[in-house]
Amino acid sequence: MYQSFVGLEIHIHLLAKTKVFCSCRAAFGDEPNTNVCPVCMGYPGVLPTLNEEAIRMAYLVARALHCELAETTVFDRKNYFYPDLPKNYQISQFHSPVGTKGWFDMEFRKQQKRVRIHDVHLEEDAGKMIHAGDISLLDYNRTGTPLLEIVTEPDLELGEDAEVFLQHFRRMVRYLGVCDGNMEEGSLRCDANVSINLRGQGLGQKVEIKNLNSFKFVRKALNFEISRQEEILSSGKAVLQETRLWNENRDQTESMRTKEEATDYRYFPDPDLPPFRTDRTFLSSVEAGMVEMPLERRCRLISEYHLTESQADFIFDEKTTADFFEEAVQKGADPGTAAAWLSGDVQKLLKRTSISLSDSPLSPERFADLLTLLKEGNIHGKIAKQTLDAVFDEDRDPKEIIRERGWEQITGRNEIAEILDKVIAEHPRASEAIMGGDRKPMGFLVGRVMKATSGRAEPGMVQALLQECFEVQFAKHMEEPDAHICS
Ligand SMILES: [Zn+2]
Repeated sequence: MYQSFVGLEIHIHLLAKTKVFCSCRAAFGDEPNTNVCPVCMGYPGVLPTLNEEAIRMAYLVARALHCELAETTVFDRKNYFYPDLPKNYQISQFHSPVGTKGWFDMEFRKQQKRVRIHDVHLEEDAGKMIHAGDISLLDYNRTGTPLLEIVTEPDLELGEDAEVFLQHFRRMVRYLGVCDGNMEEGSLRCDANVSINLRGQGLGQKVEIKNLNSFKFVRKALNFEISRQEEILSSGKAVLQETRLWNENRDQTESMRTKEEATDYRYFPDPDLPPFRTDRTFLSSVEAGMVEMPLERRCRLISEYHLTESQADFIFDEKTTADFFEEAVQKGADPGTAAAWLSGDVQKLLKRTSISLSDSPLSPERFADLLTLLKEGNIHGKIAKQTLDAVFDEDRDPKEIIRERGWEQITGRNEIAEILDKVIAEHPRASEAIMGGDRKPMGFLVGRVMKATSGRAEPGMVQALLQECFEVQFAKHMEEPDAHICS
C-alpha cells in the first residue's frame, strides 16, 4: 500500500590531470599534502581559474545523459565551515548548472524504466580528514579536485533498481573516459534520498542517506530505509526529515543530523569566477568525446555478431573488451569463438597474471591469428590453448611460436598413415583383437597415435584412416595374411 521514491546524488571524480581551479596534480594515493598550492589551500588574495578539461568532461556527461546544456554556466559559493574546506566555502553550481532535465533509459525486471536527471553540476571536492586515536589529521591533496555531481529525480523505487542504475551509470562514465569508477578509492560515491507515502499520494518526507560507497551498500541501505519508514508510518507516526548514515557493520541507517535546507548554505555567484560561456568550438569538442553508449553497444553486439545475451553481457561490460573484440573480428576472428575465448581462457589468464586485456601481450591481431589458425585446422584446440599461454608468457606472435615448436597440426594423409602403421605394428595384440571383431582397442590405437605426435595429428583423420585400414586389412587378410597396407 506504500509507494517508495528513491533519488540518487552521485559524485564522480573527473579524470582531469589537474584540479578544477588550480594547476595542482589531481591524483589518488600521493603523499599527503604534496599536491597543494595557495589556491586550493584557500590563502587570501588568490584567484581560481577554471580547468578546461574538467568543464569539457562535465558537459560530456550531461550530453550523454540527454541533458539540456547550459549556454552559460555559473559557479556559486556554498558556504559552510568544515576543517577539510580551508576557504569555508565550496565552489559549486546552484543557479545554473552545466546540464538539466536529462534522462537515462534502462531495463529493470524486464520492464523499460526511465530515470530522469534533475541536473549535472561541477564542483570542487573537499579534503580528507583522517582520524587517528585522539587526533585528526588533514590531507588537502583532494581539496579542489574536480567533482561532478549528478542528481536524479526520485524515479527509482527500491535498493535493487537503484543498484542497477548505478551500475549502468558507472559503466557509462567509464566508457566516456571521464571517471575510473573506482568506488573503493572514492572516485564514485553516492548519497540517496528516500521517501515513502501511501500509493498515489506523491512524495513523502525525504530522508537523505550518506556513505553509500558500494553497490551492495546502496541496495541494502535503501531497502533498510524503506522498511524503516514503512514501520514508522504504519504505526501512525511521522518520518523525521534528516540525514542518516549507513552503518555497514550494523546493517542499518543511523541518524546523523537533521537536514539543512539549501538556503542555509547562502549560495551566491562566486565573484572570482566569470560565467563560462559555451561556443561552437567548445561544443564540437564535447561532441567529439561522445562514444556509443554501453547499452546500445550491447544491442549491436547481439544483432551484428549474433552473440548470446550472456556473451554480449561479458563483452560490453568494459569498453576495452568490446573494442578488442570488434577489432579481432575485423581482423578475421569468428565472433562466437572470439567471445567464448575472451570470456573463458583469455579471462582466466588475465586473472592469473593480474593484468588488464589492454596491457596484456595479446593484441587483437594475435588473437585473430590464433583463432584463424584454429579455424583453418592448422592447429587443434589443445595446441591453441598452449599457444595462448605461450603468447602471454613470451609476448610473441602465435604463428612464430607454433612454427618454432613444430606445433602445426599433422593433416597429411601419408604422414599419419605412416605413424599409424608403426603404432599397429607395435601393438599386435590390439590389432588382433580388432581383427577378431572387438572394436574397443580402436580408441587405444588413436590415443597411441596422438601420443606419438604430441597431440598434433588431426584426430578426425586418425580415426578415419584407422577405420579404413582395418577394413582393407580384413579384405587383404583373406588373400595375403602378412600384408601391411596402411602406408
Ligand atoms: Zn592547488
